[in-house]
Amino acid sequence: MALLEVEDLVVRFYTEGGVVRAVDGLSYTLDRGERLGVVGESGAGKTAAALAVLGLLDESGRIEGEIRFDGESLTAADDDRLQAIRGGRIGTVFQDPEAALNPVYTVGEQIAEAVRTHTDRDGAAANDRAVALLDRVGIPDPATRADQYPHEFSGGMAQRALVAMALAGDPDLLIADEPTTGLDVTVQAQLLELLDDLATADLAVQLVSHDLGVVAEFCDRVLVLYAGQAVERAPVDDLFYEPKHPYTAGLLRSVPRIGDSRDRLSALSGTTPDLSAPPPGCRFHPRCPYAEDACTKHDPPLAATDDSGVHRAACLAYTGDLSGELTFSVDVVDDDGGADGGDSR
Ligand code: SF4
Repeated sequence: MALLEVEDLVVRFYTEGGVVRAVDGLSYTLDRGERLGVVGESGAGKTAAALAVLGLLDESGRIEGEIRFDGESLTAADDDRLQAIRGGRIGTVFQDPEAALNPVYTVGEQIAEAVRTHTDRDGAAANDRAVALLDRVGIPDPATRADQYPHEFSGGMAQRALVAMALAGDPDLLIADEPTTGLDVTVQAQLLELLDDLATADLAVQLVSHDLGVVAEFCDRVLVLYAGQAVERAPVDDLFYEPKHPYTAGLLRSVPRIGDSRDRLSALSGTTPDLSAPPPGCRFHPRCPYAEDACTKHDPPLAATDDSGVHRAACLAYTGDLSGELTFSVDVVDDDGGADGGDSR
């Protein structure tokens, strides 16, 4: 049994402008010790799906489908149970550490509070655990730092403190939503190294990111979302070296690389659709260079692209309903970080 099982998840937001289907029929699993990257443009549904797992959607959000964590239904759990799991067996790291830390309490007090809430440690034992966690995430002189306030921490240190807080309940799953966004590149690299050190054989990580480089470096498997739906799912190397969906290929082509000989980046044309009135058929068809008439009528399932069934893509090319062939080319990154000239298929 997988640690996390998401089945046919639908997330709707009821807004003044109409009902927005932010996530539409999303299914995926995450095993213990696995690192899953969830990628896509803004509005793809990455964060809405993560918040649904955490039970943190705002009042306008409603979900359908099933989310199971270690066999327990989170969709059926009440608020108390969700609160116990969140911050306990599921740790979270969000994008903006300054917003996530309370400015009127010391960093140590906030981590100790998480320890008290999610473990049986209390008093001095919780404070000692807070200092140990700061030490574990690489904060120098952790005992002194524990007594400082968030404004005394740099952005990178504040993000490390959030990771320490996420570890307070000894989680089995860490959900990190854009944890490196807004950090400068050297701090980003340090944070990824820290997550890499922490991701043990037991700790599963769901990394939500728009940054393909971060996902390529850290994850084992990747799920690509477009307009609330999964459009591709594959082991990380397969996805980056042999993308099977035109949207993934377009995303990869739009990434600048060291040694890039292209005069200009090839950006994906168009924008993500309005999810209160998504296009019929394949939601990517208004932007897809391979779209045919059938693409405007049929919503393709996430189908196997080869005999193993491990690499899946939601495109009619893999259901036998497309008359033409996908012949896109993607520059892949060689071991020196340069583009190697491309891989056509
Ligand atoms: Fe493009 Fe059609 Fe495939 Fe959608 S189903 S990705 S529109 S070719």
